[in-house]
Amino acid sequence: MRVSDFRSDTVTKPSAAMRQAMSEAEVGDDVLGEDPTINALEQKTAALLGKEAALFVPTGTMGNQIAIGVHAGPGDELLCASTSHVYVWEGGGIARLSGVTTRPIDTPNMMLNREVLEGKIRPDDGHYVRTRLVTLENTHNRGGGKVHPIDDVRAISAWARGHGIAMHLDGARLMNAVVASGIAADVWAKEFDTISLCFSKGLGAPVGSAIVGTVEHIRKAHRLRKVFGGGMRQAGIIAAGALFALEKNVPRLADDHANAQIIAQAIEETDGFQLESGTVETNLVWFQVDPRIGTAAEVVAKLRERGILMIAIGPQAVRACTHLDVSTDDCVRAADALRSIAQH
Ligand SMILES: *Cc1c(COP(=O)(O)O)cnc(C)c1O
Repeated sequence: MRVSDFRSDTVTKPSAAMRQAMSEAEVGDDVLGEDPTINALEQKTAALLGKEAALFVPTGTMGNQIAIGVHAGPGDELLCASTSHVYVWEGGGIARLSGVTTRPIDTPNMMLNREVLEGKIRPDDGHYVRTRLVTLENTHNRGGGKVHPIDDVRAISAWARGHGIAMHLDGARLMNAVVASGIAADVWAKEFDTISLCFSKGLGAPVGSAIVGTVEHIRKAHRLRKVFGGGMRQAGIIAAGALFALEKNVPRLADDHANAQIIAQAIEETDGFQLESGTVETNLVWFQVDPRIGTAAEVVAKLRERGILMIAIGPQAVRACTHLDVSTDDCVRAADALRSIAQH
């Protein structure tokens, strides 16, 4: 049976052309700064985001956790949305790796805005932790893959910086936000001190992320990467996949967004399913299952019988994700499967 895998945009496999680029990559010892492919990738990523420097890291989680350690330490506090990847899905790394406490903030649309941050800076008094960092996530995964509205990002950034608080962006899917909004990567990046970016999500590389910032931030990040066990050697082999992804796979993210609409439309039209965050803007489709139809896990099991893979995240929530290894036809199949499951 044909299987269409919508569980995540991490499931993509490197194409023949990407593998070719990887096999031909020039390499050296990156811990010594001598891998030309990694150096090229770092330069290209920094330039794309309009920052001074970049650092290649194995995962987006490591990129975020390094960034947190760059800006904050024990006795410091980070502000983020309560649904943030850095807080929910990184194994408690904020506390474990940097000794930083988190103040997670609930918001109706799962994204921070200037109003919900009002009064969230701790007083300058020895009883309290020091508020040091705000992290945002764009696109926001648990917020339905939505683009964080740029006006909100700007208002938050102006407020934070006005109080001497650093701004980090979890930009695992920043390029999806760029393609969906038409706002360039460096325009988004201006509002942040550091940004992490994943090459292994929608961009389709098998491994790799980067963090960008000033030379000084990246010097600190380099030290933390070594401490966290992320100093790699001839990793130009994998950086070549990331470089290929950055050069070839950005504009085509629009196809993933168009494909996601096919699934979103089926959900909108089907009694028993409901989109979680109103309209779908990028490649993530989060929806709620009416208990009348079953649990999220039961719906996912029925989809699997039809060769469609999605994931249950929460008792009634399902996520589908489009990417370069699912076609428009796969999305039509998924839409049909959802309609048929709701009717039986
Ligand atoms: C995937 C993801 C990350 C990082 O994930 P890794 O699997 O560690 O590369 C970070 N933030 C968001 C929003 C993500 O979706």
